[in-house]
Amino acid sequence: MINVFQPSLGAEELAAVAEVFDSSWVGKGPKVAEFEAAFAARLGVAGTRLLSVDTCTEATFLAVRLAGLGAGCDVVMPTIAFVSAANAVAAHGARPVFCDVDPHTLNPTAEHVEAALTPATKAVLVLHYGGHPGEIDRIADLCAERRVVLIEDAANAVASAIGERACGTFGDFGVWSFDHGKIAVAGDGGMLYARDPDLVERARKLAYLGLEQASGFAQAAGQTATRWWDITVSSFSRRSVMNDILAAIGCVQLRRLDGFLRRRAEIVAHYDRALAGIPALGLPPALPPGHRGSHYFYWVQMPAGIRDEVARDLYDRGIYTTMRYPLLHRVRAYGSDARLPGAESAAARTLNLPLHQGLSDGDVEAVVAGVRAAVTARVPALPVEVP
Ligand SMILES: *Cc1c(COP(=O)(O)O)cnc(C)c1O
Repeated sequence: MINVFQPSLGAEELAAVAEVFDSSWVGKGPKVAEFEAAFAARLGVAGTRLLSVDTCTEATFLAVRLAGLGAGCDVVMPTIAFVSAANAVAAHGARPVFCDVDPHTLNPTAEHVEAALTPATKAVLVLHYGGHPGEIDRIADLCAERRVVLIEDAANAVASAIGERACGTFGDFGVWSFDHGKIAVAGDGGMLYARDPDLVERARKLAYLGLEQASGFAQAAGQTATRWWDITVSSFSRRSVMNDILAAIGCVQLRRLDGFLRRRAEIVAHYDRALAGIPALGLPPALPPGHRGSHYFYWVQMPAGIRDEVARDLYDRGIYTTMRYPLLHRVRAYGSDARLPGAESAAARTLNLPLHQGLSDGDVEAVVAGVRAAVTARVPALPVEVP
């Protein structure tokens, strides 16, 4: 089976984990600090603005909590987004208000976000579909103008930027994921960015049971108090820290990330060339000048009537595809009755093809051949236009 997403984990990661085992400290310790510093350097932000946690979902919950969102607050988000974002909002008693997206980029434009703002809107929570930055700069300007908090779900956008500015750092909060399905994989892991370093300090306590004290390793390393086992609880919070096993894997993956991105760019270029000209098949739009993506998704679009059958055909050929992300405004639990035509069209017509750095040229050819066969069998050849 050719997987749609797949991590590249090997000897280097194993050696890094072995080192952690040998150190006898597998909790949150020096490897977590190294991972945070390495990611801060990649983003070009101060380390005081980042905190690693166990998942991106937890980082999103923390961002919503630190933003003070709760009952009576509306949070505008695209309907094509991951469940974690809507859950984080709804779990705090705030209301997710879903906005439409551009049917080709699957990202909301600033106009889509603006159209969904209500008098109760306190925050906007957007993602970067497939790693494409989208109109995050314009959306950040809109949020600043309307004085609403901007949270970026940058889980798709580990290496995305507009100019020199990394996606995830345009707003008040940004979150990233290092789970099993991402480009850089730690096993599990999340990162939280806050523009305000004081909020990162609050998040650090929230991620460790609301204790005023540092985590075990930091305490053991710098025992200052006479009775270092005393505790002060400042909030009723969970424990969601990262640990040195995960961080050691994550450090290796960040070192390999540019290589992963180069291979992904090659595969995307190959798909772009080889899939162009298949009747009725739409390819992902090119990035605007100055935008850098992460090549997280490669998606094709086709008439809605054939999409599911094409997916089935590919599956029968051993090629796994999917559709990211199912419409959140159609999820009953979020209580939306919105009509969002761009997103509804995209959700019916889009298929995510395999994209990961482990694909061989032969795999890519097999995907291309499968897509060409499945689509052309169902779409009668269109007359060739002579210019
Ligand atoms: C993967 C992902 C998440 C969740 O990340 P976890 O680390 O698994 O919690 C959230 N949002 C988006 C867009 C994602 O792709």
